[in-house]
Amino acid sequence: MEACNQYYYATRDPLGAGGDFTTAPEISQLFGELIGAALADVWVRAGSPPDAFYAELGPGRGTLADDVLRVLRRAGFAGEVHLVETSPVLRTAQKELLSDPQWHDAVDSLPNRPMLLVANEFFDALPIRQHVGAMERRVIAAGGGLAFDRDGEIVETSPVRDQVAAELGRRLHTHGGVALVIDYGHAKSAPGDTLQAVRGHRFAHVLANAGEQDLTSHVDFEAIGRSAADAGASVTPVATQGEWLNLLGIGARAAALTAANPDRAEELAAAVQRLTGKAEMGELFKVVAFHAPDWPQPAGFE
Ligand code: SAH
Repeated sequence: MEACNQYYYATRDPLGAGGDFTTAPEISQLFGELIGAALADVWVRAGSPPDAFYAELGPGRGTLADDVLRVLRRAGFAGEVHLVETSPVLRTAQKELLSDPQWHDAVDSLPNRPMLLVANEFFDALPIRQHVGAMERRVIAAGGGLAFDRDGEIVETSPVRDQVAAELGRRLHTHGGVALVIDYGHAKSAPGDTLQAVRGHRFAHVLANAGEQDLTSHVDFEAIGRSAADAGASVTPVATQGEWLNLLGIGARAAALTAANPDRAEELAAAVQRLTGKAEMGELFKVVAFHAPDWPQPAGFE
């Protein structure tokens, strides 16, 4: 999974109608603007520390960072921009949209200062392990292709995701700040096979076309929350994306944009529906915040 995704992201921009999948920031500016407002609010309530920086894990085309920073800058935030991104293709796209970002291959090299961090659809792309009973399920070469070596009730773990969450927790505890993690997944750990492949906006067989399709699995928010908490961060309850965006005021923001741009009324209403609708992204997608114990909890989780 790790090797496939590394190759996949290194060789293309997979986002948008002409690609394989569409993410929330690519649907509408509303998503990033509300995150920007939530981060601006928590930064101001923490006393507007001038050495804080904005960070994003897996920033895609940079659209989310662009929308977030527009709002953060308006609130007086003048901090640096740090992007954790391994794909050279996507780094090029980010460079075109954002002014003066600094790139990192991993979370470890982020500055030792307070951070305002966002990870949207990042954890789901990190590799998982699957287990059947006490045995790890493996991928083997068979009949000229790839196959699983066993079937049964599957339990998934992700040491890599847990490690990243722990590193975020450690940094927040030591240096201050908040991290918002948004992804599709479940609030409580549960057995089940959630590995999936998407190509051209359609599900594909997970072992077909190695490196040519997006491989993800549901994020276990209970597991990453525990890792961050064990490392010293405070962890909010897990919210659904729909609840969270409603509490952050997506309705009011959409109404304001519609009043200023009546010709965009239909597009904005459709975006709100896609981002918050129960049958769309509103319920499957979850949000959690990790924050320094001496920083306030960000809005949207009450
Ligand atoms: N957050 C963006 C893009 C999500 S796609 C959005 O919401 O539109 C996943 C992103 O994570 C891509 O930018 C991809 O290149 C990056 N990525 C995937 N695996 C990574 C890894 N191991 N290290 C750093 N970045 C990674």
